[in-house]
Amino acid sequence: MANTRNVCVIGSGAAGLITAKTLLDDGFDVEILSRDNSAGGVWSANRVYPGLYTNNVNGEYQFSALPMRPLSKERPSGTEMCQYMGEFAHRFLEGKIRFNTQVLNIRRNGLGLHGWIIAARNTINGGEEQRSYDAVVLCSGGCSEPRIPLGLSAADAASAGFNGPVVHASHFSSQVEDILSRVRPVSHANPGRIVVVGGGKSAQDIAAYLANEGRSVSVVFSTADTVIASPITLPHFIRKSRLLTLMSPHIHLRTRFEQFLHTTWLGSKIVHGFLSALAWCSLKFLSVPSSSPLSNSYSMFWGVRTNDEGGPRPNRFHSLVNSGKIKLVAPSRAKRFGHDGRSIILADGRVVEADALILATGFNSSWEGLFDVDTAQELGIDKHTIAPVTASESEWGSYKSIGNPPKTLADDIEPRGLLLYHGMVPARNISRRDFAINGAVYTANPAYVFEVSSHWISSYLLSDPFLRIPSPEEAAAQCERETEWMNIRYPGILNWANESFSTRINFWDYPQLVDDLLEEMSLPIMRTGGNWFTWPFIPLSTQEFKTLGAERAELRSAI
Ligand SMILES: Cc1cc2nc3c(=O)[nH]c(=O)nc-3n(C[C@H](O)[C@H](O)[C@H](O)COP(=O)(O)OP(=O)(O)OC[C@H]3O[C@@H](n4cnc5c(N)ncnc54)[C@H](O)[C@@H]3O)c2cc1C
Repeated sequence: MANTRNVCVIGSGAAGLITAKTLLDDGFDVEILSRDNSAGGVWSANRVYPGLYTNNVNGEYQFSALPMRPLSKERPSGTEMCQYMGEFAHRFLEGKIRFNTQVLNIRRNGLGLHGWIIAARNTINGGEEQRSYDAVVLCSGGCSEPRIPLGLSAADAASAGFNGPVVHASHFSSQVEDILSRVRPVSHANPGRIVVVGGGKSAQDIAAYLANEGRSVSVVFSTADTVIASPITLPHFIRKSRLLTLMSPHIHLRTRFEQFLHTTWLGSKIVHGFLSALAWCSLKFLSVPSSSPLSNSYSMFWGVRTNDEGGPRPNRFHSLVNSGKIKLVAPSRAKRFGHDGRSIILADGRVVEADALILATGFNSSWEGLFDVDTAQELGIDKHTIAPVTASESEWGSYKSIGNPPKTLADDIEPRGLLLYHGMVPARNISRRDFAINGAVYTANPAYVFEVSSHWISSYLLSDPFLRIPSPEEAAAQCERETEWMNIRYPGILNWANESFSTRINFWDYPQLVDDLLEEMSLPIMRTGGNWFTWPFIPLSTQEFKTLGAERAELRSAI
């Protein structure tokens, strides 16, 4: 019965592609709806731009069915990721993706009835249609809906008489030629100026690209992302193993080593000392002086905004800042356009001259507007607020490593979350087995998490007996607990991260999350193996999951 069900996967990014492949392998009839015109989402041809590199080292951001070809550089570029995603879609999902199709609304087939109705618009001819499916897996991503700060939209630019391009980072790739043609290089007698707003990786990558193209670039930001850098390529037993991931406490501590690191005074000192030293050394390797606003970065332990730069290179952001080719205007925030039509006014009143503005200002939730209020409530993806609790008052009172959150973050707490079981299934809807989400867990290793999540989701939709699913009440209680943990572990973070990529935050502790999902599917965990000493040092890889489909099939036939 289950194998005849037709499933709509919304989105053709990494999460949508692996989810669709796993569901197809398990016998579902699958259709991907995507508003893009090629596969890859963030890594699609329209999104990637020259100078974009992943934080992930080679071999990390790939799915088990298609190992990435060996690359000459330490990490894949945006273009290489785009090629990889395109090849994955071509090999496994040919004819299954309906591109240029924007989903407008998702609703039940009728009160108490089976299935979903999806209203969609063709982005080329504007035609609208309704399609029905038995189940929906939402993979619309956390970085697909541009967030434009108040006062800095194209309409604000027009009313202030600002004639230059105003472009969100997600549209940079399609607009870059226009920007370069409209802003004269520094070699010109009358050069133009480009202002990039944002302290994150996109802002830095874009600023570096434009500076390398000979343009005058200023970057306005309040706090910069933390950076990891080293003079040599880190060996895989450090960079790709569990070692770094163990520095972050998980909701439960499975091993003695984790218990030592997070529940003892000495362990906590080691964790915080190690991460602070890593952040300090990285800035030293990149020759960032302590007086630089780039030193005012998010905490590596308490935050999730960490970029892996690898080794210093002359054409990268930090080197270009050091050589004066990129100017930093920080800490500050861009507020509005100046009335002279050639400037941006900052929150502190300063004026920055600008002929073009790039907004690397993040993303809104991609779910906003997809569900009407009644559907959101009935399904259980409406916002949920929880009572504020400190670590010491909670069940994690023995965790020494989280005992002392930075004051500013603790003050900033707005405890909320969504009651999504493992960040994937609304607790309220858990028994209906007709709706799930993949790609909404915030993690440093998306491929690793998305692939195992896709198997969990498939087993969930198939009602596989070996996947232990709680009742809606038990699931809601578990979600409350997970939400409380998330608010304690990353205080204030949910004020910043949009819902569609923060249903759970397992930034560093992704192997622990994956073990939880595997365990729930009655499958072997900690699949890298090793003995009592070596296990933290064995490199992780999605190759561990190559046989998951067959293992699940075997369990299914055994019951
Ligand atoms: C510039 C940039 C660099 C990044 N670098 C890294 C990195 O180095 N390492 C890392 O781990 N992560 C990185 N990320 C995070 C990145 O978001 C994830 O790695 C991953 O690509 C997310 O995949 P996804 O499938 O969840 O979402 P996406 O790739 O965003 O895919 C979402 C898909 O849903 C579609 N969609 C959305 N709404 C609708 C709708 N209403 N109707 C139809 N289709 C819809 C989109 O068009 C897209 O196809 C980066 C993000 C950005 C923006």
